[in-house]
Amino acid sequence: MNSSEWYKLACTRIPGGVNSPVRAFKHVGMEPIYFSRASGPYLYDVDQKPYVDFCLSFGPHLLGHSPHAVVRALQAQAEMGTSFGACHPKEVDLAGLILKGYPFLNKVRLVNSGTEAVMTAVRVARGFTGRNKIVAFNGCYHGHSDGFLAKAGSGVAELAESSSKGVPQSIVSDTIIAQLDDLSSLEFLFARQGKEIAAILLELIPANNGLWVPPRETIERVFALARKHGALVIGDEVITGFRMGLSGASGYYDVRPDIVTLGKIIGGGLPLAAIAGRGEIMDSLAPVGGVYQAGTLSGNPLATAAGTVILESIFENPPYRDLEERTKKFAGQLGELLEVPVRTAGSMFWFQLGTQT
Ligand code: PMP
Repeated sequence: MNSSEWYKLACTRIPGGVNSPVRAFKHVGMEPIYFSRASGPYLYDVDQKPYVDFCLSFGPHLLGHSPHAVVRALQAQAEMGTSFGACHPKEVDLAGLILKGYPFLNKVRLVNSGTEAVMTAVRVARGFTGRNKIVAFNGCYHGHSDGFLAKAGSGVAELAESSSKGVPQSIVSDTIIAQLDDLSSLEFLFARQGKEIAAILLELIPANNGLWVPPRETIERVFALARKHGALVIGDEVITGFRMGLSGASGYYDVRPDIVTLGKIIGGGLPLAAIAGRGEIMDSLAPVGGVYQAGTLSGNPLATAAGTVILESIFENPPYRDLEERTKKFAGQLGELLEVPVRTAGSMFWFQLGTQT
């Protein structure tokens, strides 16, 4: 069967034929392509046609698809067991590697997706501070947990409105959506309600709605505001973690979020994500503290085996300078060819279409 035939069949079995909406290719006016395998920089469709993959599963494959060392580690682990539902050494190793990248943080809890990581980070922040409100920013994406399927309400830095059917307004009533490129209203809001705000949640380098590298002062103002009012900063580094460098976007700005959420690269292409945070905050989590969180497959042996190999390899041979130079060169040339401005940050690039500044 070709892609079109697979898609037609999929539509009879899966809503919209896809397991994540962006894969429907609606924005590009196409039907989804069905892939059968991937290797290095290439994806191969079900007809064995090769494609150069600039998306790399939306970020996990920093070293390309199926690096040998990861494949070998997965084969070896599969022989030894795929899920124990119990503790094992590789989860401790991976936590150690994550903390090596983020040495200002002390503890890590492994989960299965970026959505779950952010959901847990927010719960921990609320449990630790005893406050309920969370500030997030317009245009940042933090996964699909109910509280963050929210858009800005009528005012700036006002209570959010639900952005998805099925998410009652009451569930987003403690989410505040502000503008990262105009912090004045947020400062006003903190002056009025600062004692109710548990955390500011942000992508330090917003990469889900275009690509924007905020000026250093913006990030510093966010941290200063949070510190002044006793709110935590949650750096959502699901994309930028181990991608902008060994300490992600936190390292890029030389800032220390209280909690960092990670995903994508740390699982080497398997479902794995993490919450890393300051020790006293993370110890709010069960079984030490009263903030509940759990997971049948959390810290899964296969996922931690892949993640450990990737992070070890990145620490041994950091690819960042090379990737950044190649990205600038490639994206620059492509931008010239297409006559559109291109933005880059590390190995990320984005075409600036339309009038967005
Ligand atoms: N946070 C950010 C910054 C993300 O980019 C994403 C997904 N791209 C998520 C959270 C959610 O991660 P996941 O898709 O693994 O649930």
